[in-house]
Amino acid sequence: MAEVISVQNENKLEGKVIIITAGASGIGEATARLFGHHNPRMIVISDIQDKLGQDVVTSVGPQMCSYIHCDVTGELQVKSTVDSTVKRYGGLDIMFSNAGIVNFNQQTILDLDLSAYDRLMAINARGMLACVKHAARAMVDGGSKGSIVCTASIAASLPLGGYVDYGMSKHAVLGLMRSASVQLGKYGVSVNCVSPSALGTPMTCQAYGTDVEGVEKRFLSSCALGGDGLALKAIANAVLFLASDDSAFITGHDLVVDGGYIPSSLTH
Ligand code: NAD
Repeated sequence: MAEVISVQNENKLEGKVIIITAGASGIGEATARLFGHHNPRMIVISDIQDKLGQDVVTSVGPQMCSYIHCDVTGELQVKSTVDSTVKRYGGLDIMFSNAGIVNFNQQTILDLDLSAYDRLMAINARGMLACVKHAARAMVDGGSKGSIVCTASIAASLPLGGYVDYGMSKHAVLGLMRSASVQLGKYGVSVNCVSPSALGTPMTCQAYGTDVEGVEKRFLSSCALGGDGLALKAIANAVLFLASDDSAFITGHDLVVDGGYIPSSLTH
């Protein structure tokens, strides 16, 4: 009988060239740190917070991690990040397209600020599209099988009481992922999403005016599995799964990592 259970190992990304957008903080940073344990050829972290990005490189190890400034709202910056990665490291195997923001003032449909909406969509939807587009082009041109993972959210599948714009942007990410997965399958490129619920990162701490513990208390206590600080590690592990060959036959999938979240707590 064929071996169907993969052996746990620390080399799930051996020889892979990876880009992580928004890799200087939160989910991107945690994922870069985890990826660093799996023997990649190079993890290119991109972000707009240069000092934090360089700190992550130092911590992961400059021999397998580098930083490049890239604001995902600029398509040329995204293209240049992908092109320079391919040129320096010989190709692109994995894109973790993770950049996203939340507008700090909760908005209902009655008081929505459309200028704030435009800024958010430029990052969360248009920026995500630029990253998927240019990563896919590099993977198709390079002729290698590739893996694209986008950070969506449970807000992509559930109604939010506030944050109408954020919910719209994450629905767009799911739509992008589903369309791209159908188009890119013939090239051996997979496209999937990871969808966190809520965890304590600078984004949520600012949005809710509290610290990591405060965010976790507010949200993780609503998880069926309880909240004991596992969320960030769980998200990074899910991204690793979707990025690695362990998920080789999975595409067009939204992997929700929410500990069994109880949606009613999102509606107030
Ligand atoms: P974070 O604030 O820790 O990190 C976000 C990073 O994005 C920052 O380093 C920031 O500099 C970077 N960034 C902001 N604008 C950018 C731009 N224009 N170009 C490039 N980088 C930019 O937040 P996080 O929680 O790690 O968020 C990462 C992703 O996870 C986002 O897409 C977010 O929507 C999603 N998400 C987060 C949660 C949560 O509870 N934290 C839940 C669901 C989804």
